[in-house]
Formats: sequence, C-alpha cells, structure tokens
Amino acid sequence: MKVIITGCGFGGTEVASELRKRSKELDIIMIDRRRRLEYQAAHPEILSGKVTPEEISGDLNRFASKINAEFINDAVVNIDFEAKKVKTRKGLEIPYDFLVISVGAEQSFLGIPGAKELSHSVNTLRGAIETKKALDGLDYSKKVSIAVIGAGLTGVEVAGELVDYFRDKASAKIYLVELMPRILPAFPNENVATYVGNFLSERSVEILTGAAVQGVSEEEIAFKGGKKLPYDIIIWTAGIKPNSLLEKLDLKKEGGWLKVDPYLRVEGIMNVFAVGDTVYYEIEGVCAGQNVEEAERQGKAAAENIIRTIEEKKLRRYRPKNTIQNPRAFISLGDNKAVMYYGGIIFKPFAYRMKKFVQWWYMRRFR
Ligand SMILES: Cc1cc2nc3c(=O)[nH]c(=O)nc-3n(C[C@H](O)[C@H](O)[C@H](O)COP(=O)(O)OP(=O)(O)OC[C@H]3O[C@@H](n4cnc5c(N)ncnc54)[C@H](O)[C@@H]3O)c2cc1C
Repeated sequence: MKVIITGCGFGGTEVASELRKRSKELDIIMIDRRRRLEYQAAHPEILSGKVTPEEISGDLNRFASKINAEFINDAVVNIDFEAKKVKTRKGLEIPYDFLVISVGAEQSFLGIPGAKELSHSVNTLRGAIETKKALDGLDYSKKVSIAVIGAGLTGVEVAGELVDYFRDKASAKIYLVELMPRILPAFPNENVATYVGNFLSERSVEILTGAAVQGVSEEEIAFKGGKKLPYDIIIWTAGIKPNSLLEKLDLKKEGGWLKVDPYLRVEGIMNVFAVGDTVYYEIEGVCAGQNVEEAERQGKAAAENIIRTIEEKKLRRYRPKNTIQNPRAFISLGDNKAVMYYGGIIFKPFAYRMKKFVQWWYMRRFR
C-alpha cells in the first residue's frame, strides 16, 4: 500500500510519522516544493536576530529517512483522482492508494493595489530573511517609518520584534495597522488585546485600529477616508488564502478551503484525506482553527483513519480543540516576553520560555 503526502509542513510530517508508528509495511512518499520544513511561528524572531534560519527550519530528507519514508522535493501541480495519480512540476506521475493533501495556506494581499508588489512579508522563511535584509539596508541618517499591516497574531509579534531590532539603532517609528476596531480580533477575549496593546504602546509602537488600507504606492499607504501614511518598509501580515493548487482540484470547498467529512476524508472521496490549514472543518457548530496544534492533531487523526481503513475497522470522528470559537496560542511580545492565551485566560509567567521550549521540542525531530 502506498500513501502519498502532498505538502510536508506541520500537518504532513505528523501524518508521516504517525503512519510509520502504526505500520512498518506502508510505502510512505512525502512530497514538498521546499527542502526544509519552516517553523513559521518563529519567523518574526528572524527580524530581531533571536533565531537563525537553520534553527527554525528542518531538513525534510533527513526527517523522511529517519522514519523510513521517501522524500521527493517537487511541487504537486495536479491530482488525477480517477487514475489515483499525483502530477508534479518535474513531470512525475506517481500512483497512490491513499493520498493526504496538506499543502497549507498562502499569503493574501486582499486584492489591494500595490500591496503585493511593495510589501515585505514573514510568511515564508525566505520572506523573513529578505525583510531583515531590507531593514538592515535602510538609511538610518533619518528617522525611518515601518508599517506592519494586520494586527493578528503575526502582526503583533512582528511589531514586538521590530522594537527589539531598533533598540540600538537610530530612531524608528513602528506602526501597527488593523482594519478591525481592535488588535488580535480573532481572540474573543478583549483583555488579551488590551494587555498586548498596552505592552506594545509602552514600547512606542503606534497602533492604528479601524484603519482600512486601500492602496499602496512607492511612498505612502492610502487609507479609506483619505488619510496617508508615508513609509520606508511595509511588512504585510494581513490575510491568508487557500493554496493555489486547490483551484485546480474539482473537490467540495467552502470559501476555497477543502471540505472534509468527520473522518478528515475529502468529501466524496474515500481514499483522499486532508489536514491542516488547507481544510475547512466544522462539526456541531465548532470550526477548526488554522494553527499548528490543529494541523498536528488532524495529521495524527488522518493517519489513524488511513490505517483503520486498511484494517477495515470503524473510523474515528475528529474533534477540533484549537477552534475559531475558542482559540489558544502563545503570543510573543518582544523583549523575550510572551503571553499564553488558553480558555479565555491570559498566562504571563514563563510564557516565552514555554513557547521556546515547544519550538525546541518540535525541531528535535529534524536533528
Ligand atoms: C508568520 C506565521 C506565524 C505563525 N505563527 C503561529 C503561531 O504562533 N501558532 C500557531 O499555532 N500557528 C501559527 N501560524 C500558523 C501555522 O504556521 C499554520 O497553521 C501551520 O503551519 C499549518 O500547517 P500545515 O501543515 O497545514 O501547513 P504548512 O505548515 O504551511 O505546510 C504546508 C507545506 O506544503 C508545501 N506545499 C505547498 N504547496 C505545495 C505544492 N503544490 N506541492 C508540494 N508542496 C507544497 C509547503 O512548502 C509547506 O511545506 C503562523 C503562520 C505564519 C505564516
């Protein structure tokens, strides 16, 4: 039996290792367009130099050989569900018995004119490294202005790391721009936004809420209502969209994301599973969030259900835990501080150390 895993981030690698734990016989083929897994949660810290690219990315080839799987460094360009074949950019057509789609999400610039062309981003490791280079290359003989667009989890973390980056440099103004009336709008408890907002404001970050970016030109950001903000660097953190591969796949979707049944099978196809950011999963009024915890839990659950299908056992229903309705996360603030948001409560002591421990623990598997 051959299982192909397309996309080897948090979800895909979890599927692979769980499959191997449960079966020594399965042929496991891991395909990714990148050679290294990227630990995206630490990308903002590339800016302040707290982490190196090597520390926060892992060699997928090494990972695959440790679990006796095959790794193919190639991009999946299409899938023939009838013929059960995956097609790759290098022209391979690889047959499978089971398939897992775990290609994650992509950055969205929300169709705002100039945003994609003129912004930097930390969504990919390469993007984070290039953003750091752009910061290093600024002319510090004058005051510089950095605009972080989007004050979700990544936006506030980027703002915090920028404060650390500029600590020993000439003066810089950091703006954190959010469309919604408050920062961290995805977190239902307003207290976390207040705490994080105060922390960043005390460190001289200027927070602009209810600010709708309408366009970006070489010199300035234009807001709805006519306001303009001159900038030296924009770091775009607002919005994600489904992976462009999904557009080619004739599958059931919700807003472009893949719909899966309670066993994490792509709706209507019994031997194709999907996990992680790429998935829209709703059960009993609760929606899975797009985060590392969900990608990993779904990866484990999908692997178990693949094995159960092979063994002709009853499949297990998946229950999300880190949900849209009740999210949980570590939020780094810069200055080696963080908060942990869990069950609507904010935990501060040791949160940064715990976050770093989780990162270290996770990355061990690539060493
Ligand atoms: C900057 C940033 C910070 C974040 N911080 C946090 C955080 O603090 N906490 C948290 O829980 N979540 C965080 N997230 C979200 C988290 O990283 C994602 O939810 C998680 O990575 C989802 O895992 P995944 O396996 O679905 O996708 P990914 O980890 O993105 O993996 C997808 C993989 O698919 C590969 N791929 C894509 N297309 C193709 C193709 N066509 N062919 C082959 N391979 C392909 C990619 O190269 C990638 O390796 C953050 C995200 C970003 C961008």
